[in-house]
Amino acid sequence: MPNFTEKLSGFWHWYHDLYNNEWYIEAGLEKFEKKKLQSIELKDSSLKKFKKEIENCQKCSLGKTRTNFVFGVGNEKAELMFVGEAPGKDEDLQGIPFVGRAGQLLNRLLKHIHLNREDVYIANILKCRPPKNRDPLPEEVEKCLPYLHKQIELVNPKLLVALGKVAGQNLLKSQFSLSNLRKRIWQYQNIPLIVTFHPAYILRYPAMLDEALEDMKFIKKELESLHSTG
Ligand code: SF4
Repeated sequence: MPNFTEKLSGFWHWYHDLYNNEWYIEAGLEKFEKKKLQSIELKDSSLKKFKKEIENCQKCSLGKTRTNFVFGVGNEKAELMFVGEAPGKDEDLQGIPFVGRAGQLLNRLLKHIHLNREDVYIANILKCRPPKNRDPLPEEVEKCLPYLHKQIELVNPKLLVALGKVAGQNLLKSQFSLSNLRKRIWQYQNIPLIVTFHPAYILRYPAMLDEALEDMKFIKKELESLHSTG
């Protein structure tokens, strides 16, 4: 069993590899990822139409402070849909979810189960960045959540994955802690739902990486079993 230092060292090598030891190319990488992601977003006219309908939303005060409205991105026919919490700084600047370091880590976690960003759809509970990345307020969630419900309806995934406690609690209307939400199959309107860590949390607590990788295997296994049951 590796101790904490060994785990930290392992994570660092993994993370180091993720950035290919060239931190200075990060901006270029992000530009590349943005271009690649834009090329796969919103081919479906119903999602495109829905984005147009809501992209100027001012239903809560975050509409005034955002740089960009962050709708969602990915394969509009995805079998696997991820739901995060809210846009961060990079996402607010680029208008695309999960493009910063947490997004790069999510890409790597997907690769662990042989998936790419192009295979999945990703959206957040909130479409606009809360100032200083604070937690979403209940009134913001209440106003914004119907947009996510509609996105889920349009994508109609076989399996939903909530990234982090905030996404899990709000989708399941539960107050359970993350540890109680993980490693179980929940139901969101007849769609199976699994809750795992938010990638930003793993960046803060790298010792949780092993558990996050186990969750990814659990997600893959559930997706495969959904295939076998049609
Ligand atoms: S966070 Fe949601 S409800 Fe608030 S302004 Fe943005 S889109 Fe509208």
